[in-house]
Amino acid sequence: MTSDNKLLEVKDLKKYYSVTTGLLARNIGDVKAVDGVSLDIYDGETLGLVGESGCGKSTLGRTLIRLEEPTSGKILFRGQDITRLDKKGLTNLRRDIQMIFQDPQSSLDPRMRVADTIGEALLIHGMKDEKERFNRIKELLERVGLEADHALRYPHEFSGGQKQRIGIARALAVNPKLIVADEPVSALDVSIQAQILNLLSDLKIEFGLSYLFIAHDLSVIRYISDRIAVMYLGKIVEMAPKEHIFDHPLHPYTEALLSAALKPDPHSKKERIILQGDVPSPMNPPPGCRFHTRCHKAVEDSPRLEPPLIEWEPGHWVACHRFRK
Ligand code: ADP
Repeated sequence: MTSDNKLLEVKDLKKYYSVTTGLLARNIGDVKAVDGVSLDIYDGETLGLVGESGCGKSTLGRTLIRLEEPTSGKILFRGQDITRLDKKGLTNLRRDIQMIFQDPQSSLDPRMRVADTIGEALLIHGMKDEKERFNRIKELLERVGLEADHALRYPHEFSGGQKQRIGIARALAVNPKLIVADEPVSALDVSIQAQILNLLSDLKIEFGLSYLFIAHDLSVIRYISDRIAVMYLGKIVEMAPKEHIFDHPLHPYTEALLSAALKPDPHSKKERIILQGDVPSPMNPPPGCRFHTRCHKAVEDSPRLEPPLIEWEPGHWVACHRFRK
């Protein structure tokens, strides 16, 4: 990986939601959903983003594609600053970056036929000729494993997996470079999950796509990712190629996540690490290392100082006091 094939660069990105109370909407604090994230996504790679529910994965994904206004920080796409964009800039960005959502049911308008849902994106991006549009819609449907005549049907006529295929066709319609997939298979039956994951893998190669793939399920993340970023309370705590994360995780939080996902094995000598308690509130994260309140390896500095994310080994980043340079 070189800086030449960086598709997306994220620098110290923050997204805070203000929490208000009373009739006068007095501000009583901020939910620090994303709190200083820096990462890169390279051409043709899948970066898996994993972490417990509520740690800021969706907010990060939504902020990257500018569905949410960043509080501070920078986002660059192919070197161009996309942190603040006007309406035209946003429309152009939607051609390059698309999103696939978790719930295929609610991400499709029930009153719109499939052809209109996919056609809308093509029209916005300048494909004015109706016949050309319809041909492209049929081609896309066939490519995602549906049939051309499904174009004239409504969302309720499809199963969950088929609806997700329509969502994928809609995202592909404008030839994006990057797709943010937010838990795209977690609402589907396990057998269907594998089909959709295979489809996404094939499309990645065929269309030269990159994915930011958000999931809490480690087996899904393991299957789909080239690199993995582990998120805890608004921050990236570890980021590395997939094999590093699974074969020698450095951060105690990553260890705990992997341990929790292990299948019970009476012969295994590995002790299961049980994460104590819930994720603390992102309105009031613990001082120092945010994970110290639940960490089985906390050190003296953990409650006092915030560990920076450092490159401990080439390509393997970690934010933990036990790894210092
Ligand atoms: P994840 O995707 O990891 O489950 P989210 O990004 O959905 O996490 O949420 C991170 C935190 O931000 C949670 O505490 C959530 O309640 C909060 N949050 C998300 N969206 C909003 C919003 N629109 N307004 C206020 N708080 C929000």
